[in-house]
Amino acid sequence: MATPDYYMVLKVPNTASHDEIKRAYYALSRIVHPDKKTSIVNNNSNSNSYSNSSEERGQLDVEFHQLSVAWEILGDAARRKAYDQRLKAVQNRALGVVQDEIDLDDMDFDEDSGTYSFPCRCSGRYSIAESDLEAGREIAPCVDCSLKIKVLYEAAEDNDE
Ligand SMILES: [Zn+2]
Repeated sequence: MATPDYYMVLKVPNTASHDEIKRAYYALSRIVHPDKKTSIVNNNSNSNSYSNSSEERGQLDVEFHQLSVAWEILGDAARRKAYDQRLKAVQNRALGVVQDEIDLDDMDFDEDSGTYSFPCRCSGRYSIAESDLEAGREIAPCVDCSLKIKVLYEAAEDNDE
């Protein structure tokens, strides 16, 4: 199962502030809250609409559950941070097959071009510019084939608050 995109569940951008996330959660939970829907479903079911209503209930429970989980994670700074990292890893993988994860210390640095490189099994080299790393990019493509590696490095203290 893929990592669900909780930002999508709450319909907020992944740059949303805590307050925006909180507002989105409360606004959405009012719409899909199971208690609220129960009364609506009950009003409509005078006769044998059992299967319909339980099916509908199930659907709404799932939505509400997802919403709760999304809020539990995104509403908590530490859990949100861990989730963001996991989501980023998933998205990086989606960008292309990452062949391997290589520590920056194990790569060769070429001072003239300002790039780090590492031998690829195709006899080409994975290559990434120092400026790319500084910009937060961490995927180094091979110059000769379609393989990519993920570069592991200590990010300079990220002050994105
Ligand atoms: Zn290659």
